[in-house]
Amino acid sequence: MTFEDFCITLSRIEATTLRLEMTRLLAELFNTLSEDEIEPVCWLLLGRLAPLYENLEFNFAEKMMMRTLAEFVDHKALNDTRDNQTEQLGLLSTDVKVKAIAYVQAQFKETGDIGDVTEILFAKFQQKKKDVRSVAEVYAALRVIAEEGGGGSQDRKLRKTFNVLSLCTAQTAKYVVRIVLGTLRLGFSDMTMLDALSWAKKGDKSLRKALELAYQVKADIGKLARVVLTRGEKGLNAFEIELGIPIAPALCQRLKTADEMIEKMGKVFVEPKYDGTRVLIHFNRNGKDWQVRTFTRNLEESSGMFPELQSALSQLHVDEIILDSEAVGYDPETDKLLPFQLTIQRKRKHDVAETALKIPLRFFVFDVLYVDGKNIVHIPLHERKKILNNILLGADSTFVNSPTLVTENAEALRKYHAAQLGNGLEGVVIKQYASEYQPGRRGWSWVKFKEEEGSTGKLSDTLDCVVMGYYKGQGKRTSFGIGAFLVGVYDEKSDTFRTVAKIGTGLSDEQWREMKVRCERLSSSGAPKNYIVAEPLIPDVWTKAALVVEVAADEITNSPTHSAEKALRFPRLVRIRDDKGPGQATTLQELRAITMA
Ligand code: ATP
Repeated sequence: MTFEDFCITLSRIEATTLRLEMTRLLAELFNTLSEDEIEPVCWLLLGRLAPLYENLEFNFAEKMMMRTLAEFVDHKALNDTRDNQTEQLGLLSTDVKVKAIAYVQAQFKETGDIGDVTEILFAKFQQKKKDVRSVAEVYAALRVIAEEGGGGSQDRKLRKTFNVLSLCTAQTAKYVVRIVLGTLRLGFSDMTMLDALSWAKKGDKSLRKALELAYQVKADIGKLARVVLTRGEKGLNAFEIELGIPIAPALCQRLKTADEMIEKMGKVFVEPKYDGTRVLIHFNRNGKDWQVRTFTRNLEESSGMFPELQSALSQLHVDEIILDSEAVGYDPETDKLLPFQLTIQRKRKHDVAETALKIPLRFFVFDVLYVDGKNIVHIPLHERKKILNNILLGADSTFVNSPTLVTENAEALRKYHAAQLGNGLEGVVIKQYASEYQPGRRGWSWVKFKEEEGSTGKLSDTLDCVVMGYYKGQGKRTSFGIGAFLVGVYDEKSDTFRTVAKIGTGLSDEQWREMKVRCERLSSSGAPKNYIVAEPLIPDVWTKAALVVEVAADEITNSPTHSAEKALRFPRLVRIRDDKGPGQATTLQELRAITMA
């Protein structure tokens, strides 16, 4: 496939708001790809060069792109353009380079989108009729740019991007720029791609469920697409756990009382619910490219954050392993566990080594999914726990075998839960004694029990919502530039976000400032395509779906205005959830289930 044909499909996808049409276009695209094109095209569709779990970023700033684009500006043409805006920006300078940059900046100020600016510039100054390169060729060239590192790499990146662009038409240039800047947002997620794969193969949705289950076990959309498009349904059976590729972590369902839990689940393991950060640990002692890889609950790679794991894992008597754990910071002097806010300081990309010394972590390990070439997710939990116990016998104190109570008695469960709350923990997680490891949130193998039973007057659990936009402040908050923000839940069925609340309280001055900075970074010139928002709630500034916040409320009521048809009463911000992506926000389906319970 040529890169130009690929871009034509991208522009068609961009032009439609109808999900079915998007799915149809994607399915059509999938059916025209050769085997080797499938993986790169899948990543490119998500605006990336590698699967989500691989940290391969361009690190190419918008400013640098403007400098690159300025090289395409015809200097003769510049002399004719002397409108006010460009003059203000320095177009009077005699240096043509400065002039050209100012010209690009002025265009950017006018359109607000650097992809569109590129298209305009290329249509005006480049006028290439055809871009004959294959999609694989352009992908390979882009990869070289992203992999540039070390001294002088910025200049090399700029030069190479210039080279890629110099063979582009106006349309292909627009998409190259968006991909390099990470702003290609076509308004669908990997979930829509699963739908499209089913349509491509079967002409209907019948393969969707099977695809989703396979994707949860091995979260690599490129590999999954390749298997299903080349080998069909049969290929899915062999799509199994692979060391180094994230597995969607098991998540909890909600039930209200201990009695209900025992009734539904029978014999259970009860474990403290630690308030840290989820870490799925992959270890490959003899691996050539990597030995330790970790993933967040969001399936992102987090390996760089945990330097202590290398030596801790080397001491285990296994060569390959996948462990599921919660990492919590502790105070080395008092040995006390630290609050979530301190634990997540590890998330900062800089000063990791220093933070690791200041805030050492304990990894509370609660499951093992794979050992020395063997996938063990299908054996009962009590057997996996035995295997885990043996493995952790040789471990140093970085790993803690998460303590458990085994019971089938509701009273014992209640007592254990109360004791954990008394210890300052979040509550407990209850796991069915003989359950398989079920990736994602399904079945009743895991249930969480946080608040005390019978606590009324407020919603017994918080929700994780996506920030969809914000309103400029009034009164005191004018100075923050933000007075409230709009949040929504994720509708899995239609891959859209629907509003549930406008939040204007519960934030300290500092938090308002932080929200403003975060929202500004995500601001979008129009409503993202997969937002459903009623007219009266339209925010002053839209934000792209990326920021997830944990929200508490008193209750959930029916709402004629919010597009989720539910609204949170007295919503307030609990904290920002950097460990979650928009696809991991509370779903519309969960919200409905909570209100029905
Ligand atoms: P919450 O918002 O309540 O912290 P969540 O929405 O992140 O939870 P849930 O599925 O509700 O996710 O709860 C599971 C989370 O609890 C896991 O992702 C993990 O981070 C954390 N956790 C803490 N202790 C345990 C444990 N013993 N077993 C499993 N998960 C645990």
